[in-house]
Amino acid sequence: MSPNKLFGTNGIRGIVNKELTPEMAIKVGLSIGTFFGKKKNLLVGHDARTSGSMFARAVISGLTAAGCNVLFAGMAPTPALQFAVKNHQMDGGVIITASHNPPEYNGIKAIWNDGVEVSHEQETEIEKIYFENNFHFAEWKQLGSVQELPGVNDEYVEAIKKHVDVAKIAAKKFHVVVDAANSVGGLTAPILMRQLGCKITSLNANIDGTFPGRLPEPRPENLKELASTVKAVGADLGVAFDGDADRSIFVDETGQIQMGDKTFAVIAKQFLLKNPNSKIVTPVSSSTLIKDIAEAYKGEIVWTKVGSVTVSQKMKEVKAKLGGEENGGVFYGPHQAVRDGAMTTALLLDIMADTGETLSKLVAEQPQYFIEKGKVDCPDEKKQKLLEKLLEEHRGMNVNTLDGAKIWFDDKSAILLRPSGTEPTFRMYAEAKTQQRAVKLIEEYTTKLNTLLGTI
Ligand code: MG
Repeated sequence: MSPNKLFGTNGIRGIVNKELTPEMAIKVGLSIGTFFGKKKNLLVGHDARTSGSMFARAVISGLTAAGCNVLFAGMAPTPALQFAVKNHQMDGGVIITASHNPPEYNGIKAIWNDGVEVSHEQETEIEKIYFENNFHFAEWKQLGSVQELPGVNDEYVEAIKKHVDVAKIAAKKFHVVVDAANSVGGLTAPILMRQLGCKITSLNANIDGTFPGRLPEPRPENLKELASTVKAVGADLGVAFDGDADRSIFVDETGQIQMGDKTFAVIAKQFLLKNPNSKIVTPVSSSTLIKDIAEAYKGEIVWTKVGSVTVSQKMKEVKAKLGGEENGGVFYGPHQAVRDGAMTTALLLDIMADTGETLSKLVAEQPQYFIEKGKVDCPDEKKQKLLEKLLEEHRGMNVNTLDGAKIWFDDKSAILLRPSGTEPTFRMYAEAKTQQRAVKLIEEYTTKLNTLLGTI
C-alpha cells in the first residue's frame, strides 16, 4: 500500500498483520463510519478467511465508535451481503474479504445502499478521513449499537430463485459438481442448486480459511480436480467459485474448462433473445466475442475501463441489466448490478434447461477466438508517454482509448495494450481467429512497444 492510498481496484487488500492490521481496521471502520455519518445503519460480514472474524470485530469497533449502528451478518458470500444491504434497506455496508487472493491476505470494502461498492470518488473521501485522522468520535451516549442479522444466506438463495424457471430446471435433474474453494460459496451454492432439483457432488465444501483444497482464484491450473471430477462422475456441469463467490468459472460435461468470456457470451445471447435492444456493459479487456454476440442478437455494448466497480457504476448510469467480465464475473441487474457467482450458475442452468443444450454445445456454436497475453517492462514515469506514442502511431485506425489502447484490425483480431496499475509493465491481451495470429500480434507489439520506449 502506498503512503496515502488505501484502496486498490477492489477495496483495501493486504497480508494479514503485515500490510493490514487490526489497528488499521479500527481506523478504516472509523473512517467509513465518519463518511456515512452517525446513526446510519450498516451491514457487516466476512468471508471464510482465518482473519475474517478478527477484522470484522475491529471494523465494527470503529463503526460504532463513529456512531453507526451495525447489523452483523457473519460469514457469507460477497454478493449475499451486497443483496442484504439492499434487501434490508441499510444505508450501506462493509465486507471483509480478499476475494481471490491467497489465504494470508484479507481486505475491506465499503458498500453503498444499493449493494454496489462505493465509487472511487467516495473511496477518496474515506481515505482523506483516514489519513487526516479526521474521525467523528461519538459521545458515550451516542455510540452505535451492534445486532446480529441471521439468515442473509437463505434470503439470498430465495431471491436468486425468483429470476429463473425453477420447475423447468428441476425437471432436468442436472448433476452439478460444485467446487467452493473451502470458502463461502459452499454456504449458498449447493443449497441453491439442491432447491433447483440438481444432484450435487461437492468438492472443497467444508469451510477452512487456510484453503487446503485449492487456491481461491478460479484459474485453469486450480481447477484440474473439478474438471476431472465432472468427467469421472458424468456430471452435466461443474462450477468453481473464487474466495468470496462473486465470480464463477464453469466446466462443461466433457470436462473442458470454459473461461469466463465464453460463458458470459452464452448468457448474453439468451438475454438478448429475450430482451432485444438491451445494453450490455463490459470492460475493454473482454473478448470481441461479446461484441459479435451483441451485433448478431441486437444488443448494444457499452465499454468501460477494467474493474468490477466501474462495470457496476456504468450499469447504474446507463440503466443496463447485464454486465460481465472475462474473469467469470457476471452482473445480472434484475437481481443486483454486481458480480454474483450463484446467480450466474442459476442463469446457466436456466439456459441449459430452456434450450435443452449442453454447455459444450452452447459454447461451440459461438464464434471462436484464440487469446494470448504478454507484457513489456515499462517504468511508471514512461507509461503515459508510451501510450501517447502508441495512439499517435495508430491514428485513423479503430482504437478504443477508454483504458490504455484497444486496437481492432480488419481480420477481427484485436489487441489491448494497457499500463499495469500495480507493476512497472505494459500488459498486452491479443485475440484472433487463429492461435498463430494471436501469437504474432503479441510478438509484433512486444517489438513495437520496446522500439517506442527507446525513443522516450
Ligand atoms: Mg471475488
